[in-house]
Amino acid sequence: LHTTKPAPTPSPLRASKFYQANMRILVTGGAGFIGSHLVDKLMENEKNEVIVVDNYFTGSKDNLRNWIGHPRFELIRHDVTETLLVEVDQIYHLACPASPIFYKHNPVKTIKTNVMGTLNMLGLAKRVGARILLTSTSEVYGDPLVHPQPESYWGNVNPIGVRSCYDEGKRVAETLMFDYHRQHGIEIRIARIFNTYGPRMNIDDGRVVSNFIAQALRDEPLTVQAPGTQTRSFCYVSDMVDGLMRLMEGKHTGPINIGNPGEFTMLELAETVKEIVNPKVEIKMVENTPDDPRQRKPIIAQANKSLGWEPKVKLRDGLPLMVEDFRQRLGVPKKN
Ligand code: NAD
Ligand code: UDP
Ligand code: UDP
Repeated sequence: LHTTKPAPTPSPLRASKFYQANMRILVTGGAGFIGSHLVDKLMENEKNEVIVVDNYFTGSKDNLRNWIGHPRFELIRHDVTETLLVEVDQIYHLACPASPIFYKHNPVKTIKTNVMGTLNMLGLAKRVGARILLTSTSEVYGDPLVHPQPESYWGNVNPIGVRSCYDEGKRVAETLMFDYHRQHGIEIRIARIFNTYGPRMNIDDGRVVSNFIAQALRDEPLTVQAPGTQTRSFCYVSDMVDGLMRLMEGKHTGPINIGNPGEFTMLELAETVKEIVNPKVEIKMVENTPDDPRQRKPIIAQANKSLGWEPKVKLRDGLPLMVEDFRQRLGVPKKN
């Protein structure tokens, strides 16, 4: 005889006012620059529980000091190249050194982090049915022959250069994401992040905005790498976090460019930092590193259309916020 099961009655806990439909969110690389700002934003929502996994290669517990000990927060020292067993609903996969001096320091580890780390997070997403977002990079466009760069551009990347561990690593990570999506039906999101700046950047990580600000505060010459006419587009970190969260919550897999289309030459950037931070500082031309992309600027029409996103903070407004943070961390008093 055929009987239908009665619909389950809601559990008394669910009906009680103490129940919260918590969303468990894993942030890999959450002790880093962008990751820690993302955690701040995710923790603002009382329904979110956040688990950070980080090996502290370039990140620091200090970036998460506001949350350590909080009942909805957990910090795990773990390397994503190893298997990870946690139960979560969403994964923001950021773990990977982002600054050239760090990712070139141990290139084999960098490519392992990109390939094995992303594979492990996809294996985890598959096992628990989580949605996973990868922070890819504008470096997948290499030294672009198309300018500005739309998502449809396949890039111009040297497969055997000193940057390849990072840019080819991220390209494989994107491939893995799409293969798991097509083969296993995993829900994926891919952000192609363009240069991002803001408080909590590593002071001595060699990236241009952090270098110039630290140099200006220390009265050291701003080191513009030749020829100085190469361009970048700089996005303030709060705009970046907003874009990443919209992408995660939206319907589009991407890849989607997230960046600020305001384009500056490195000489212009140096002049701007000089004007804002220390008008007396010298600007010095120094030798460049191999394979430095000559230009970079995102087309963000896709993010605008499918996520309703656009950056709000202009370079001239974002720089002073970062200067304040660097001033405190470097112990440089304000001059009147
Ligand atoms: P970051 O170096 O500050 O943060 C990366 C974090 O990942 C650090 O906390 C580091 O300790 C951790 N990590 C590195 N390898 C790990 C491993 N094997 N296991 C566990 N943790 C590991 O860098 P960020 O600027 O915050 O970048 C975050 C993400 O955004 C990266 O994936 C990066 O590639 C991407 N991205 C950043 C930029 C940018 O301008 N900042 C541009 C493009 C893409
Ligand atoms: N993995 C993980 N956590 C999980 C499930 C899988 O870290 O909860 C890792 C696992 O160690 C494996 C990778 O993810 O190396 C890929 O997993 P998948 O199940 O897709 O492949 P398989 O284990 O069959 O090779
Ligand atoms: N750069 C510079 N002076 C510095 C550090 C970097 O002129 O002290 C230049 C570098 O040559 C590159 C640009 O700034 O053209 C951006 O470099 P960064 O390492 O910040 O990021 P990425 O190359 O990954 O975009």
